[in-house]
Amino acid sequence: MTLPAPKKPALQSVDLPHGLALLRDPLLNKGTAFSLAERDSFGLRGLLPPHVSTMEEQADRILKHLRRLPDNLEKFVVLNALRDRNETLFLRVVCDNIDEIQPLIYTPTVGEACQRFGDIFQRPRGLYISTNDRGQIVQLMRNWPHPTRLIVVTDGERILGLGDLGANGMGIPVGKLSLYSACAGIHPSLCLPVVLDVGTNNAELLTNPQYIGLRQPRLRGDDYDAIVDEFMQAAQQVFPDVLIQFEDFANHSAFRLLQRYRDTACVFNDDIQGTASVALAGLFSALRVTGGRLTEQLLFLGAGEAATGIADLVVAAMVAEGISEDEARRGIWLVDSKGLVVKARKDLAEHKLGYAHEHPPVTDFLAAIKELRPTGIIGVSAVGGTFTSEVLRTMAELNARPIIFALSNPTSHAECSAEEAYRHTDGRALFACGSPYAPVTFGGVSFVPRQGNNSYIFPGVGLGVIASGASRVTDEMFMVAARTLSSLVTEADLAQGSLYPALPRIREVSCRIAADVSGLAYKRGLASGRVPDDVLGFVRAQMFEAEYRSYLAP
Ligand code: NAD
Repeated sequence: MTLPAPKKPALQSVDLPHGLALLRDPLLNKGTAFSLAERDSFGLRGLLPPHVSTMEEQADRILKHLRRLPDNLEKFVVLNALRDRNETLFLRVVCDNIDEIQPLIYTPTVGEACQRFGDIFQRPRGLYISTNDRGQIVQLMRNWPHPTRLIVVTDGERILGLGDLGANGMGIPVGKLSLYSACAGIHPSLCLPVVLDVGTNNAELLTNPQYIGLRQPRLRGDDYDAIVDEFMQAAQQVFPDVLIQFEDFANHSAFRLLQRYRDTACVFNDDIQGTASVALAGLFSALRVTGGRLTEQLLFLGAGEAATGIADLVVAAMVAEGISEDEARRGIWLVDSKGLVVKARKDLAEHKLGYAHEHPPVTDFLAAIKELRPTGIIGVSAVGGTFTSEVLRTMAELNARPIIFALSNPTSHAECSAEEAYRHTDGRALFACGSPYAPVTFGGVSFVPRQGNNSYIFPGVGLGVIASGASRVTDEMFMVAARTLSSLVTEADLAQGSLYPALPRIREVSCRIAADVSGLAYKRGLASGRVPDDVLGFVRAQMFEAEYRSYLAP
């Protein structure tokens, strides 16, 4: 099965709305770029200023305006308004300036945007499903007018490292789906952002007059499960073949929901599986430099979704290399807010148990490093500054090329900055970050740290799943995606300390990942239809290009 919206659907002029309705349809609007002939055909004369712009002129105007704005939240608002007017131009601007724009439409800016969502709210986007809609979610979903193939859904309980933001969490699915379209060319009409508003326990939001969500405490227990279940059934009923991505659910829901639906629906959790894949890719790249193997000790600061997701995929990758699962787990250690995760502790949540080793309790991260002598530390604690100068120096004493991944975001929550990582390890750190950092010069060497951003992975995996019509998303797909991503890191990248490819290559990266994920889906019997002769070409042909097309019949 192929995507329902071909790259350039053959639209006849009769299909299109006329006049203001055309200008107000963001999927069709071209603004001042409508040609004079189109203006005549569609009743647009006089509704637009006389100069016919090129797309380049329009993009240039947007960029100049953006660059004059004093802060990132304002830029976020302007970019959202652009998308609400003209999706094609929005995607053109994002694709051509991905380094500059991604941090504005996604992390770190989206974190602040979600915190202040009510203040900056202009017009709704996506579906808001609340506890008030129980029993009617199918009807509600039928209100969505587009043929959806991809849903990103959150319940807003753990937005980035910022905690419970309730319905304000909608900023996350909206941002993620923009990245799907920009990075992997998934047509925006196929993408549906959803927030499940089950209340919030954020006291500040509950009393904030600008808060957009229900003012009630979060549903828990069976009531919560019932609404998620109803949503899952409704989504699959209204949009057969839909891929559903869970996003920013709290630990206690995320692992459970993934477990519950992964074998019966086409779902994945990006915080767990996407993060794992991008981190594993970074490790593969780092090992190309150190010449080491995955079996060496890795110590995580944090033991939540990101940490255990990464740890599980690293274990799976080691098992795929022929190592026993027990041995693989022995090399992986976690530190949470109460110290080293060890068997003796009685307070451990289920998802940590697989990494609870026989060891006396250790409460301090630095002490754990000194005892375990890891080759790499991976920060996913959402606590800023926890990779102190002493932590970094100790890693540099223990390793010629210490692996230092400070993945927490937004930036204020990063375990250390790029500059700190290089300074305290004499420029020897193999560094990846969760937040964007500018290049760093240390000791006369210029380092280009790159973000271990999930956007290297999820757009490609999603495209691969949709393009092949895969019925399930498997961990093996994320392992394959990690290998493909790391294989695209060049020797020149590694030489400057970059463990990921340059972001402007993202569409090529997504296309290659999608092809390998599709190939795997066919191989495992999860895909529908005949295996294409040229999987890469087949996937590439389905990627939407952000270009205007003529609306005049030939
Ligand atoms: P989470 O809430 O599931 O887990 C956080 C973990 O950190 C918990 O186990 C908690 O016990 C532990 N922790 C809290 N304070 C600590 C402390 N002082 N010392 C040690 N551990 C402590 O969150 P998550 O989904 O695992 O995400 C964690 C962070 O990783 C967030 O900042 C998130 O934005 C970031 N993240 C980054 C990427 C990426 O860069 N690709 C992807 C996903 C998540």
